[in-house]
Order: sequence, then structure tokens, then C-alpha cells
Amino acid sequence: MAATRDRRPLRFTAAGDGAREQAYHVQWMPAELTEQQRERLTTRQNEPPDLVVVQPLRAFTCARCRRTDADMLMTEDAGAICLACADLDHLVFLPAGDAALTRRARQASRLSAVVVRFSRSRRRHERQGLLVERAAIEQAEQQCLSDEEARARRRERDRQRREVADESFQQELAGHIVRMFPGCPPERAAEISRHTGERGSGRVGRSAAGRALDPDAVLRAVVASVRHEDTPYDEMLMDGVPRDEARERIRGDIDRVLAAWRRGGASPTGGSGPSTPDPAG
Ligand SMILES: [Zn+2]
Repeated sequence: MAATRDRRPLRFTAAGDGAREQAYHVQWMPAELTEQQRERLTTRQNEPPDLVVVQPLRAFTCARCRRTDADMLMTEDAGAICLACADLDHLVFLPAGDAALTRRARQASRLSAVVVRFSRSRRRHERQGLLVERAAIEQAEQQCLSDEEARARRRERDRQRREVADESFQQELAGHIVRMFPGCPPERAAEISRHTGERGSGRVGRSAAGRALDPDAVLRAVVASVRHEDTPYDEMLMDGVPRDEARERIRGDIDRVLAAWRRGGASPTGGSGPSTPDPAG
């Protein structure tokens, strides 16, 4: 099909020689395509080409009405004609840039044309936008607007769901910590859970293991907390002690706190730091 208003069939030879015309009209496709791929390709190939309208770089004279002040032209056999002569002057120009709007406006418009302009530097015609019916643009704008509202509503729903999920996750984790470490003060368990469950922090509690409340993951969260809160680990790092060495030095402190928390009863912590003696040794 020709990309002209009348959509006439393409002709490949001057004489319209039947056999040669047929040869040019045959389209080939790879033999190994699936049935579905074949269908898709056939549909695409049989779609009529877009009507093309050109924004000329220089003024032109319409080959039909001879006017010289038109800003867009369409090419016909007779030459360049203005949009009025091409019966496209009732369409409005929708500049390129909003893909969703463009797609919808084209769909809603019974008649549309692609507007191109020749780029001297790139030496090719470049798409500037679309000519569509005014009503189609309005309809497309409505759809895009309600999309945006729908998306906003969905974001809000997602956010609420995430908050609820996080809260229940934190409560679950805190309960787990207290069961594993009956001596851990409840407010401390809550704090560890909060810290661990912080959104997007990538900490242990956010990992899959943490979500599943794997005992190892819970233990790691508790150890990390004890390390920073109940040992001089952070100060050592500030003083330039290498991390491995610092961890080695505080290992006993951590073990003592964990042992006390495991047993339950009084907590060895309480702000007095790592030097708090553990009655059990
Ligand atoms: Zn004209």
C-alpha cells in the first residue's frame, strides 16, 4: 500500500507487468518461525503505512491551489500539496515527546499522519509529531490523566501495605529475639527489630533469611546490636584498630552479653557498657 491518502496499491514497474509486479509484492519470512510469530509478522507487514506530512525547510507552492504560505506539505504524484488540498487541514498537530499520549491519540483518531522534518546535519527525516483529530487528543489526555490518578492511588495502597508488613515483621522479629534471648530487655528487642527492619537498609532483617526469621539471621542482628551498643567496638574503629582485630578483642564481651540474655533474668546491660561483670563469669 502506498503511504498516500488514497492508500492505492504500490506499483513497482512502469508497465505494470503482472509477473514482475507479483514477484515484488511477495514477502518472505524465515521458515523456522512459530505460528504465533508468523501471525504477528503478517499482521505487521499488512498494516497500511503511516501517512507522512513534511514540514518543509523552505517555502513551497502547492501544486494544486498554488498557495505559497502553507507550513506543511504532502507529496503526491503532482508534487507537493498543502494540507487543505490533501484534506488533512482539520487535523491538529501533536508534538512528539509524550509516548503514551501519542499512542492513545493515534488510536483514537480515525485519521492521522506522521509529521517529519528533514535534518540537514543528520541527513534524514526526523519525526516531529503527529497530526490527529482534536477530539482524539482530548480523549487521549483524559486517559493519561486517569492513568496518573490510578497510579497515585496504587502507590498509596502499596505504601500502606508496606508499612503494615514492616510493622508486623518487626513485631515478629522482636518476639523471636525475646524467645531466643529471654534476658534481653523487651525495649532492646524492639529497638533491634526496628533497626533491622528499617526499610531499604539492606540489613540482615531485610534479607530473605531475616524475613523467614532464620535463627542465624536473628542471631546476627542481635550480635550486631550488642557489638555497637555494649562493647567499645565503635570506639576501637574510631581509634584506628583494624576491624578484624577489634572484633577479636570484643568477642568475649559479646559472648558474655549473649550468655546472660540466653539465660534470662537480669540483663547485664543497662548503660554501663562492656565492663559490666557477668556474675556467671
Ligand atoms: Zn493547496
